[in-house]
Amino acid sequence: MDSRYIGRFAPTPSGLLHFGSLVAALASWLDARAVGGRWLLRMEDTDPPREMPGARDAILHTLECYGLEWDGEVVVQSERHAAYAAVVDKLFNLGLAYACTCSRKQLEGYNGVYPGFCRNAGHAREGAAIRLRVPELVYRFTDRVQGSFEQHLGREVGDFVIQRRDGLYAYQLAVVLDDAWQGVTEVVRGADLLDNTPRQLYLQELLGFSHPRYLHIPLIVQPDGHKLGKTYRSPALAADQATALLLRALRALGQATEPAMLHASPAEVLAIARQHWQAQAIPRQSTLAEADLH
Ligand code: GLU
Ligand code: ZN
Repeated sequence: MDSRYIGRFAPTPSGLLHFGSLVAALASWLDARAVGGRWLLRMEDTDPPREMPGARDAILHTLECYGLEWDGEVVVQSERHAAYAAVVDKLFNLGLAYACTCSRKQLEGYNGVYPGFCRNAGHAREGAAIRLRVPELVYRFTDRVQGSFEQHLGREVGDFVIQRRDGLYAYQLAVVLDDAWQGVTEVVRGADLLDNTPRQLYLQELLGFSHPRYLHIPLIVQPDGHKLGKTYRSPALAADQATALLLRALRALGQATEPAMLHASPAEVLAIARQHWQAQAIPRQSTLAEADLH
């Protein structure tokens, strides 16, 4: 048992948990609990305008109904602004980050890669976004499921925002600071965040943090090949469907399910699944069966 393992689940309260988030939460919980590790919960509420009223309580309630118990207090990012501000100040004062006054319109046509207009402009911070300078380097890492992944930060991403013009802190900054602050050793999350990881590796390097290991769980696709949630809106997770949906989520993760699980409580399903957890059985991409959609 590796009790040094610290994992986490970090939902954004912009909506309720859906099947894709259940698969991520379950994988992260099982990977931690299978080795006797800790599993922390963090509410990523850095964007109040996009928050859905009631979502944070509903998320906690759903996790409880599904037997996904967390350790310690829930960390709430809106209470961490002072820590984020101190790091933005430091990066700005060191010249590693700079103020950007570009409008959305000016940045159209660059495929989301920041063209560096404000890099050497020396703008004042007031009313500007803060961007981190990225090196002209390839960042690469080995994901436990997706394998080797690499990205040239300069060419594929460009200098990226760490604090928005409206003062809100960017996900990239908050996630790196909080994973380090909470001592997270293993990040298990959805593959939609795979291409965010090189930015986070760079920030960790800059701030002198050690890198966690990463496991990006498969994107769940519908039988017609579409990403779940695009054309098929994944409904909120019903409390009375916990056992059935946990079994479905286990199958999406390539884990064996047993007949004994069918009529078991969510906690019992998790107890069995935890004993049989095999991270190496997780597929890189997971296609839901037609029957699983309804
Ligand atoms: N808050 C992010 C989301 O809900 C997850 C961040 C992470 O796991 O790194 O998509
Ligand atoms: Zn700019």
